[in-house]
This record gives sequence, structure tokens and C-alpha cells, in this order.
Amino acid sequence: MSKKSNKDVWIYGEVTDGELDVKTLELLTMGKKLAIDLDEELAIVLMGDNLDPVAQDLAGFGPDKIYKVESPLLNRFNGEIWVDVLEKLFKELKPRVFLASQSFVGIEVAPRLAFRLDCEIITDCIDLKIDPDDGSLIKTKAIYGGNVVATFKQKGATQMATVREKANKLAERGAELGKIIDIKPDIDESIVKIQSLEVVREDVVALNKADVIISGGRGIGGIEGFEELATLVPLFKESFANVIIGASRPAIDSGWISSNRQIGLTGEMVAPDFYIAVGISGAIQHIAGMSKSKTVVAINKDEDSNIFNLADYGVVGDYREILPAFKKKWGGV
Ligand SMILES: Cc1cc2nc3c(=O)[nH]c(=O)nc-3n(C[C@H](O)[C@H](O)[C@H](O)COP(=O)(O)OP(=O)(O)OC[C@H]3O[C@@H](n4cnc5c(N)ncnc54)[C@H](O)[C@@H]3O)c2cc1C
Repeated sequence: MSKKSNKDVWIYGEVTDGELDVKTLELLTMGKKLAIDLDEELAIVLMGDNLDPVAQDLAGFGPDKIYKVESPLLNRFNGEIWVDVLEKLFKELKPRVFLASQSFVGIEVAPRLAFRLDCEIITDCIDLKIDPDDGSLIKTKAIYGGNVVATFKQKGATQMATVREKANKLAERGAELGKIIDIKPDIDESIVKIQSLEVVREDVVALNKADVIISGGRGIGGIEGFEELATLVPLFKESFANVIIGASRPAIDSGWISSNRQIGLTGEMVAPDFYIAVGISGAIQHIAGMSKSKTVVAINKDEDSNIFNLADYGVVGDYREILPAFKKKWGGV
């Protein structure tokens, strides 16, 4: 095994059904900046089968190297195989920094890999930079439900982080082309303990095209609250084409609804005809994403809640008591 010291910034490139995930273009922007600050190279690791078209396309987006790890056994994501292949690659090539998206694949693979390699990781980062004094990675993430921003510096030859979506701009195509390096992994299928039986695709959520957004916050209290909000959708659908459920970040962080529904500074920017905010306090980071809505309706049990400063119509009270009245008025139910 090579004795060289750790070098280069790596990012994990997510490919699904032959398509590159857009979050990888955001990681490329961040990775490039870190590589320039370290005066080292940026490499992207692609894993899958038939990766040529994606690799050729990506070569123009700024990486110096593309490790194209291909095998028919990598045609569908499997955490055990992914971690095993990456572990071998890391031990051989020794990257200094490894970044993955805060995505289904990223949060499964990166922490397991960090454990195997005995290196430290911070997940869900919103910013990363290189300490000019010692070249270590400074990692920033929001903690305590987004009320505090913390920075971390860790020891170790390899530094890992997962990065939140929309924390960076998309990389742009340039004139330089990265070098594509083929890697044929040695995969031991006997390590697989979990098999995926079916892949169920989430609906595409086009929040930025919505006419009406019914948005739930921490005050909704759980998944059942979102099921209650969903009963309003058919009522609006009689008059509006695109009626979508949205959410504040705590509702997403609590796992009540998927992250592609988040509205705000680190979510989607929206401008629907109607924005109905239920159990949302109106924090500045949420308002940043919805303040261009034409009409805002707020339901909140706290009459001093900031959302009422923005709302065109406000109802003070427990949403569980108020929604039935809404349904009666609009849907006669
Ligand atoms: C860097 C950074 C980025 C961020 N990005 C975003 C972002 O993109 N989007 C985002 O939303 N947040 C974001 N946040 C978090 C943001 O600061 C707030 O913490 C968050 O918006 C608060 O969400 P909330 O209004 O759902 O929860 P809370 O502030 O806890 O408010 C809950 C509200 O529900 C009301 N309530 C409780 N029970 C009921 C009931 N039964 N009926 C009616 N009302 C009820 C309460 O009175 C309260 O006003 C970010 C924070 C940071 C630091």
C-alpha cells in the first residue's frame, strides 16, 4: 500500500439511472474552492455502471480528475458495497478532504465510511473553508433547530463532511477538461446483508410553480398534522392548477415531510398566489423564501407571532380547531 500523505479534495458524484444529481454540481463549486485554497486537485468519484456519458459531461465542470468506478454490481445503490469500495479506494489514494451531499446516499455512506476509516465527520454543513494557518477544514453547520450556527475543526489526515443542498451555487462548464481515470473495483458480494426489493420514486415537487402552497411548521406537531393539511388540497384544486404542501425547516428536520418541500433561505424561494402558513412563527429564514407570495394567510395560536406582521389574513388559534372551519367555508365539508 502507498505511503504517501493525504492529498486532494474528493467529492462524491451521485448518479441515478444514468443522470447526475444536481446537488453534485453544488459540491463541485465548493470542492473547487477548497482545492484552490489548498493548492491541490479536485477529484470526483462516480460509482455505477455505464458511467461514460456522465463522466464525459462532468469533465467540463471543473474537476481535475474523475475516478470512474464501474461494475455491473454497482448498477443499483447498496450501502454495504458502496462503503466497502470507497474504503479500499481511500486506503489506496488517501484523499485529504471528502465531501458528499446531505442526501439519502450521502448520509448513508459518509458516516459509515468515516467510522471504518476512523476519521471525523460533520454532517449537514452549510459552509466549509480551509484554515490558512494549518490547512485543516473548518466546517459550519446550523444546530439547535437552526437557531445557532456552529463551526468545527477536527483532527485527522482525512476530513469528511456532508453538505446541505443549496448551500452553494451550481458549478459552470469551463474550457478545461478533467482527466477520466477508470477503476475496476474488487467487489465481494458476500458482504451484502440488505437488498432493496423495490424503488418507489417520490413525486417531483415544483414548489416554485405552485399557485397555492399550504405550508406546515413545527406547530403542526407531526406527520398527522401534514395529513390534515393535505385534506385542504382538493378544495383548492377546484380553482387552482398547482396546489402543493410546503414546510418550514423544523418540520423537515423532524422527519415529518420530505426535504424537497422546504421553503426559506436554505429551501425553495416561492411566489404563489396564496401562501397558507399553519403553525409557522415567521422566522426571518422562512420569510426569506415566501415573502413574495401575493396573499399570505396565517394560522397560529400565538397572536404575537411574527408571521402575522406579514400576513394579509390571520387567524389566532389552534389549527386543529380552525382547519375544519376553513373546510366548511371552502368545501362545504
Ligand atoms: C442558516 C439557517 C438557515 C435556515 N433556513 C431555513 C429555511 O430555509 N426555512 C425555514 O423554515 N427555516 C430555516 N431556518 C430555521 C429558522 O430560523 C426557524 O427556526 C424556523 O423557520 C422556525 O420554524 P417554525 O416556524 O416551523 O417553528 P417555530 O419557530 O417553533 O414556530 C412554531 C409556531 O407554531 C405555533 N403553534 C404551535 N402549536 C400550534 C397549533 N396547535 N396551532 C397553531 N399554531 C401553533 C407557535 O405559536 C409558533 O409560532 C434556518 C436557520 C438557519 C440558522
